[in-house]
Amino acid sequence: MAADPATETVTTDQLVAWFRAFAVEIEAHNEELTALDSAIGDGDHGTNMRRGCRAVLAVLDADAPEDVAGFGRAIAMRLISAVGGASGPLYGSFFLAFGTTGGKVGELTGEQLAAAWRAGLDAVISRGKAQLGDKTMLDAMIPAVEALETGVRQGSITEAFAAAVTAADEGVKATIPLQARKGRASYLGERSIGHQDPGATSTALLFRTAADVLGP
Ligand code: ADP
Ligand code: MG
Repeated sequence: MAADPATETVTTDQLVAWFRAFAVEIEAHNEELTALDSAIGDGDHGTNMRRGCRAVLAVLDADAPEDVAGFGRAIAMRLISAVGGASGPLYGSFFLAFGTTGGKVGELTGEQLAAAWRAGLDAVISRGKAQLGDKTMLDAMIPAVEALETGVRQGSITEAFAAAVTAADEGVKATIPLQARKGRASYLGERSIGHQDPGATSTALLFRTAADVLGP
C-alpha cells in the first residue's frame, strides 16, 4: 500500500479478504457472542452471524465480486436471506449501502472507503431506527465511523482504522451500563443494564478485521 494518504487505495480483492477475516473472527468468537446474547437476548447472535458468514463465504468462493458494488451486494443478499435474527438484515443493509456508495469501481481511496462506511452506518440507522446510546451495534459503529472519517482526512488508512478500532472497542464497553432501548434486549428493561451488547461486539470485530486487512 502506498504511503501517501492521498493516493493509497483499497481494492475489491482486499475488501473480500476483509470479509473472509471477519468470518474467521466470527467463528472464533461464536461462543462469546452467543453467551452475550444469552444474557440479554435469545442466545443466537453467534450462530446467526456464523450462519450468515458461512453463506457469504460459499458465494465468494463460487463467484468473486468484480467491483465494490458487487462485493456489497453479494454479502448483503446472503446475510439477509441466511440470518433469521435482527442482525442479518441490519448487517445486510450495511453491506448493500457500502457497496452502492462505493460503486462499480475496483478500488477506493481512503475518503471513498470512509464514505462507504458512512453509507452503511446510515442504512443501519434507517433500517433499525436506533440511535447512539440505545445499546446496539450502533454504539460501536457510530464512534468508529466518525473516527475513520476524521482519520482518513488527516492521515493514512492504517492510522484511520487504528483510531476506528479504539473507538469501536470503547463503544462496546460503553454499552455495559446502558439500558437497551431497541431489539430483544429492550424487553428486559432495567435488567439489560450491566451486560455488553452482542451486536456491538460483532461490529467491533468488523472494524478490527478491517484494520488488520485494509490497514497495513
Ligand atoms: P435477534 O435479536 O433477532 O436475536 P441477533 O441476536 O443476531 O438478533 O442480534 C442482536 C443484536 O442486534 C443486538 O445485540 C443489537 O446490537 C442489534 N440490534 C437489535 N436491534 C437493533 C436495531 N434496531 N438497530 C441496531 N442494532 C440492533
Ligand atoms: Mg439474538
